Amino acid sequence: MALIVQKYGGSSVADAASIKRIAKRIVAARKAGNNVAVVVSAMGDTTDELLDLADQITPIQEPRELDMLLTAGERISMALLAMAIKSMGADAISFTGSQAGMLTDATHGAAKIVAIEPWRVKAALDAGAIAIVAGFQGFATGTGNITTLGRGGSDTTAVALATALNANWCEIYTDVDGIFTADPRVVPLARKLDAITCEEMLELAASGAKVLHLRAVEFARRHGVKLHVRSSFSNTPGTLVYDPNREIPEEIADMEQPIISGIAAEMNDAKITVVGVPDAPGRAAQIFGIVATTKAHVDMIVQNVSAAGSRRTDISFTVPISEGKKVVAALQAAEVSIGFESLQYDDQIAKIAVVGAGMRTSTELSALLFNTLYEAGINIEMISTSEIRISVVTRADVAARAQQVLHTALELDAAEAATVYAGSGR
Ligand code: ADP
Ligand code: ASP
Ligand code: MG
Repeated sequence: MALIVQKYGGSSVADAASIKRIAKRIVAARKAGNNVAVVVSAMGDTTDELLDLADQITPIQEPRELDMLLTAGERISMALLAMAIKSMGADAISFTGSQAGMLTDATHGAAKIVAIEPWRVKAALDAGAIAIVAGFQGFATGTGNITTLGRGGSDTTAVALATALNANWCEIYTDVDGIFTADPRVVPLARKLDAITCEEMLELAASGAKVLHLRAVEFARRHGVKLHVRSSFSNTPGTLVYDPNREIPEEIADMEQPIISGIAAEMNDAKITVVGVPDAPGRAAQIFGIVATTKAHVDMIVQNVSAAGSRRTDISFTVPISEGKKVVAALQAAEVSIGFESLQYDDQIAKIAVVGAGMRTSTELSALLFNTLYEAGINIEMISTSEIRISVVTRADVAARAQQVLHTALELDAAEAATVYAGSGR
């Protein structure tokens, strides 16, 4: 008997009708002779609505209480789904993250899974029931508190559960037909991929493609979990995420790998520029030493050559907007000791990434990318590369157009527009 873990995102459980619809799908998978464990997200935009609600109470929320609040969203959908399945004559039981043995560290809002002890889930499956687990949440053994794994974290719950249960497959059901060459909400002619390597998906997820939570992909790669991303609104086969070092899925064994697998954009970063830094050894070390004390996640770093005769330079870097203010405050406090002239903070930027394993062997790609943006009149503010990625920073308001023109120039456009079945894209 195969064991499948299925994860349903917010738009798949947005209302009562949606919950009944996916309950049918789940019961069908069970009746087809599989053991089925299900991970659910909160209904529709519930998590955002709960965050808005907390903001109305106070702008500064205690992390413990915020996690308590947010985990309620997934509890609602898990209980309703269990009721829906039972009303169809199949057996089901729901579990919170802590009941399902999702043990985490104590970092509220971004907890890491440290162990998975899903004995109650196993017992339910052994008894023939469909086990439903609330996504995105865990239990910190050190403090006894409820935690969340970070936005989009239900994907990670699903992969973790699939690992612990040694599932044959982990299916991620969402509101588009799979992983596309770009976000279909931004690039309508995005093309669905039949398969993508973990390595490329990791780069796309790290570059802002929220179709899969970054840590879910990391987890899947580490533990060899087979992922299938697909729509809960259609029966179209989705996208397989695979590790070529483990096995190449039969379905794609004969296909040629594309040079580029996709384009992603990160809209939630800010650029900080330290202007007029004395061009002397040790200043970058000092600046990033101070930034490190804030624990902010620094990404692109660019240091300009110093203007002739001035012996001063500018250093720019990007951080998530949510961390921008504390970084600026820490640097301001060190203004005299670093000796810079001023600080600039800019959150109207977009970071656009083109990802593909084939880049390793392509020599003309960067010229094509930069020229395409130039012809579209889009200014590039920063550039960074990895072995399989080229990223540029542009103004936020041209990000959609930048992705569209790059998609066309890279010959990724599909013949028809992709279907987006539901969801607000929030
Ligand atoms: P869920 O609630 O099911 O987890 P998410 O909103 O987190 O759904 O992720 C699905 C969304 O990810 C899609 O609706 C789409 O707008 C967005 N997305 C971004 N990049 C991609 C991509 N490369 N392929 C598919 N979807 C993408
Ligand atoms: N409900 C959570 C969120 O909106 C987790 C998830 O959906 O994966 O981020
Ligand atoms: Mg998601």
